[in-house]
Amino acid sequence: MKQKVGMPDEEESAHIRVPFNDLATQWREIKEDVLPSILDVFERGTFSHGPEVEAFEEALARYLDAPEVVAVNSGTSALHLAFVVAGIGPGDEVIVPAHTFIATVWGLLYAGAQPVFCDVDGATGTIDVAHADMLVSARTKAIVPVHLFGQPAAMDMVIDFAARHNLTLIEDAAQAIGARWSGRCVGAIAPLGCLSFYPGKNLGAAGEGGAVIVQDAAVAARLRSLRSHGQRERYVHSELGFNYRMDGLQGLVLREKLRHLDQWSARRRELAGRYLRTLADLPLDLPAVVNHDHVWHLFVVRTPHRDRLHQYLAGHYIETGLHYPVPLHKQPCFAHLEFAARHFPRAERWASEGLSLPLFYGMTDAQLDHVAAAVHGFFRPST
Ligand SMILES: *Cc1c(COP(=O)(O)O)cnc(C)c1O
Repeated sequence: MKQKVGMPDEEESAHIRVPFNDLATQWREIKEDVLPSILDVFERGTFSHGPEVEAFEEALARYLDAPEVVAVNSGTSALHLAFVVAGIGPGDEVIVPAHTFIATVWGLLYAGAQPVFCDVDGATGTIDVAHADMLVSARTKAIVPVHLFGQPAAMDMVIDFAARHNLTLIEDAAQAIGARWSGRCVGAIAPLGCLSFYPGKNLGAAGEGGAVIVQDAAVAARLRSLRSHGQRERYVHSELGFNYRMDGLQGLVLREKLRHLDQWSARRRELAGRYLRTLADLPLDLPAVVNHDHVWHLFVVRTPHRDRLHQYLAGHYIETGLHYPVPLHKQPCFAHLEFAARHFPRAERWASEGLSLPLFYGMTDAQLDHVAAAVHGFFRPST
């Protein structure tokens, strides 16, 4: 029995193809409403920033119940500007999880600061504050919890940790728009939070986009200046600025999609629940939901047989993903840091054992059941 694990099962490979993601269902739901307005943008020529982006900022601030939202051209830019306005720069250290998408750390590096990698929780993959406690130095200025895969980080512990060490708290909510922690939307808990609207994110643009969520109006005004060449007044540049404006077309598409987001997240929860039920009896670590809420950006299972399961599912026309196969401390671009030689056992286990199963708005129950049956077929070959 054990030896047959991972053998292809020909009878079972019905010709259902399951892509990892498919954005077409979202498009079909907004198309009628958004197409005429897209033509208006071309007529008006409001391509860069403009009224569509401002309307989206207002709608998003209302959705998040946050005082201010500053739209930018990517989640990476949002994080960069958050570090700039937090006054974090050369000589400063920022504690970040070792298991996240690389963009969590680009922004602090652009600002001139150094990342200090921290291990993650074994059950959720979010930052492990007990480990962070051992990493604090006189140079530590900030900590970045990542609401990984759509689940809030353990914010009670993170908030307490930041307060004890007098650190700036910047939330990376790129994967978790709409997830709530203690009744509040993630990203709107700390003084600064960042979102990404990369097309594959739960709220995805028709291109790139991002936003900084801000509690303080003066900080929001500075962010608006920084994203547009450091100018508050046209052609007067009060500080080093950036061209991080959002496209008008993205503002339009995102505002339309935002109206559907809760319904789309509800379907993601339904699909995740179905996976949790259908995969429950397999020798597989299923995602743990412990921090209040989850919007299921990714559904990541873990098994020491990850690579073989990945191939087996590909052989059954099922696309899966690796998020992320190389933890940050092992990335070639950080080979010069002393962290490269250290061990972060739980981050390393997520990297080597995690496999993301397809889960997207528009996925049918039949597609999900097909994936679940194939996973069963891998662990329990019928012959
Ligand atoms: C997607 C993502 C980002 C960056 O967003 P971009 O819009 O792609 O620049 C940052 N952090 C995390 C955790 C992400 O998943």
